[in-house]
Amino acid sequence: MALAPDRLERFARHVVLPELGGAGQVALAKAHVAVVGCGGIGSPAIQYLAAAGIGRMTLIDDDRVEASNLQRQTIFAPDQIGKPKAKVAADWVRRFDSAIEVRPVVGRISAENARRILEGAFLVLDGCDNFATRLAVSDACVKLGVPLTSAALGRFQGQVANFAGHLPGEACYRCFVGDAHDGEDCDTCAADGVLGAMTGTVGCMAAMHAVRALVEGRATFGDPQWGTLLLFDGLAPSLRPIRIVKDASCKGCSGA
Ligand SMILES: [Zn+2]
Repeated sequence: MALAPDRLERFARHVVLPELGGAGQVALAKAHVAVVGCGGIGSPAIQYLAAAGIGRMTLIDDDRVEASNLQRQTIFAPDQIGKPKAKVAADWVRRFDSAIEVRPVVGRISAENARRILEGAFLVLDGCDNFATRLAVSDACVKLGVPLTSAALGRFQGQVANFAGHLPGEACYRCFVGDAHDGEDCDTCAADGVLGAMTGTVGCMAAMHAVRALVEGRATFGDPQWGTLLLFDGLAPSLRPIRIVKDASCKGCSGA
């Protein structure tokens, strides 16, 4: 697969990077990314994944746009309040780059439907707001054999990591948080608040991490750094890596 002249022009600043190059750009064009959550993390992640020329995107969210989202979810505008986030985000992607094949899913991911919704994705980027969904997404990724870019934040603390729990010796998200949170469903942003630019920072870090994983083996930038969690402290500010070890008794990935 070669890039058409109009695509070469659009992605010229990528192609000229020795760390990415034409081979990396072609890998991105072939890729299918599923984004779970079109909110604070999803909004910038979707914008930068679309800008990176990801060929296919599945956008999943069961929420509707609210006025209080606009302080950080820059993919939405006031005239879209009340509309389903997944559909509005998909419309944004279509307007931004008509070459991207985009599918909105207006619904909530659960342990029951996660595999069906995420099947076919090369990578899943999870920026949802609760542990129950994160764990269901992680377990589905392990079963489907696809990598997971996980991102979360609250107030001034953010975290981003790439997981490949389907690979021997590599941790999954459940190895990191354990089983205690399966029943939890919390939206910390509503109660604790979050600085808008924090979501932009963490969402863009997640998009960059997804690109790392997607170009693995195709470009030198492609070091996914499986199982290394980056902790971003927006107050300090500082960035600290933490190594997540595979849990031999993890119910998500120990059989993988
Ligand atoms: Zn695990």
